[in-house]
Amino acid sequence: MTYAITQSCCADASCISVCPVNCIHPTPDEPDFGTTDRLYIDPRACIGCGACADACPVDAVFPIDKLTGELSVHAEINRERFSEIPASYPWGQPQFPRSLPTDAAAPKVAVVGTGPAAGYAVQSLLRSTDAEITLIDRMTTPGGLIKFGVAPDHPSTKQIEHTFATSYKHPRVRMHLGVEVGRHISHAELTEHHNAVIYAVGAPGHRTLGLPGEDLPGTLAAREFVAWCNGHPDMAADAVELSSERVVIVGNGNVALDAARLLLSDPDELAGTPIAEHALAALRKSKVREVVLLARRGPEHAAYTRSEWIGIQQRLAGRIVVDGHGGAGEVIAAAAEGSTAGLLRDLPVEDVDWDRAPAGDRRLVLRFSSAPAEVVGDAQVRALRVGDGSGSRDLDAGMVLWSVGSRGVRIPQLPFDEASGVIPNEAGRVQPGTYVVGWAKRGAAGGIGANRACAAETVDALIDDAAAGRLHAAPKNAKSFNKLLRSRK
Ligand SMILES: Cc1cc2nc3c(=O)[nH]c(=O)nc-3n(C[C@H](O)[C@H](O)[C@H](O)COP(=O)(O)OP(=O)(O)OC[C@H]3O[C@@H](n4cnc5c(N)ncnc54)[C@H](O)[C@@H]3O)c2cc1C
Repeated sequence: MTYAITQSCCADASCISVCPVNCIHPTPDEPDFGTTDRLYIDPRACIGCGACADACPVDAVFPIDKLTGELSVHAEINRERFSEIPASYPWGQPQFPRSLPTDAAAPKVAVVGTGPAAGYAVQSLLRSTDAEITLIDRMTTPGGLIKFGVAPDHPSTKQIEHTFATSYKHPRVRMHLGVEVGRHISHAELTEHHNAVIYAVGAPGHRTLGLPGEDLPGTLAAREFVAWCNGHPDMAADAVELSSERVVIVGNGNVALDAARLLLSDPDELAGTPIAEHALAALRKSKVREVVLLARRGPEHAAYTRSEWIGIQQRLAGRIVVDGHGGAGEVIAAAAEGSTAGLLRDLPVEDVDWDRAPAGDRRLVLRFSSAPAEVVGDAQVRALRVGDGSGSRDLDAGMVLWSVGSRGVRIPQLPFDEASGVIPNEAGRVQPGTYVVGWAKRGAAGGIGANRACAAETVDALIDDAAAGRLHAAPKNAKSFNKLLRSRK
């Protein structure tokens, strides 16, 4: 029985490294690996050994006869990926992780952050060096966006935290939670106690558009809404009010889809997930009947990935419409099958009457070719004004969610590129002894699995510096570090 990869694939390539017949693609040395959001199994080559399913950290791989219900489409999605590709693949050159020469002293390494980038960096450090590792996070719960970003109705994706948790228990790893670098402790103090510091601090800020009214009560970032659903301690239980009939989400990437899906799902379906109690209670009482995904450009430029689109289409079956504004219907009808716009082929196209309040079943409306111009309201959002070059109109809404991207924030004593929102680096090296990984290194793009190769590159840079004697001395020990932390908190 052959296997297939399903929607929750994190593309970290753990499955590829254990496949004995090279049937999972793209592999890290194939050109589209850097842009794919998921991997596929070629059923013509798969021998059904199941090694990939055992290695998958997010439970995304199944024998095709076990694909039932929402998962059943994935057998065809895997097969289709290879329909125009020959059935045999040459093996790439074997690659072995670099390791620290055995005669080099074991470095003391601090890793700031406990999200996926930190998790993969720690795995790589444990495998390739004898480093003593100190993990630090400002939150009192580890996991970064696995805990507070990945939507609660994606439980199999959240499972990856268990993979990382095994390294947290390793005897060479110590963890300090509730410690913020730049507040409780400085970069200079970290370097006094460690030979190297790796920053895996993500991109906790969100981009803004600089529109009038952008900060009115009733507006927030879509990732903040998802964080509220995940019980993030920075998001008060009453931070979100679901008392209006329409919510507009600006943007149509995967985080926008997460927010829309959570707002429109049957709360009973969310009840068995790790959703925060306050969010579930609010969603049960929610008055929201319509969520509008607003995009500046046309359907051919939509930012969501195919897997996430298929997921929301299944969840909201029969409750998604395209607003015909801007010729969206014609673009979709002419789009090639499987293309971004082509995915919307089966949806009804309707000339939405925005002067009428939403009525009927809870639904999702996709509106394209409309740029947000202003948030209208006095003490609270009343509408989002949108324009398209030929004029403007108000879309009445009591809540506006921004889903226009995340960006890094400056950490005192470290360089920071304001334009790109990242810590400037070369292959992860900021300078010998200081490194960066994950979204703080590459910018806020890519799913969890993309951080695996990113972490390997950063750890390679650290190993090179360690082997060449370029790491700084760390005169103070772990006992002194613990004492310092106790004095600050
Ligand atoms: C809403 C949302 C949903 C997502 N859903 C998915 C999904 O379903 N599937 C998927 O593959 N990808 C998903 N992603 C993308 C994925 O979460 C990222 O690829 C990944 O989290 C980036 O990892 P990171 O470790 O760089 O950052 P993060 O996960 O953000 O981790 C950064 C860590 O650093 C800590 N930190 C920050 N500053 C400091 C400081 N000064 N001192 C101490 N600690 C600090 C933070 O508390 C945090 O724990 C989602 C992203 C978002 C925003």
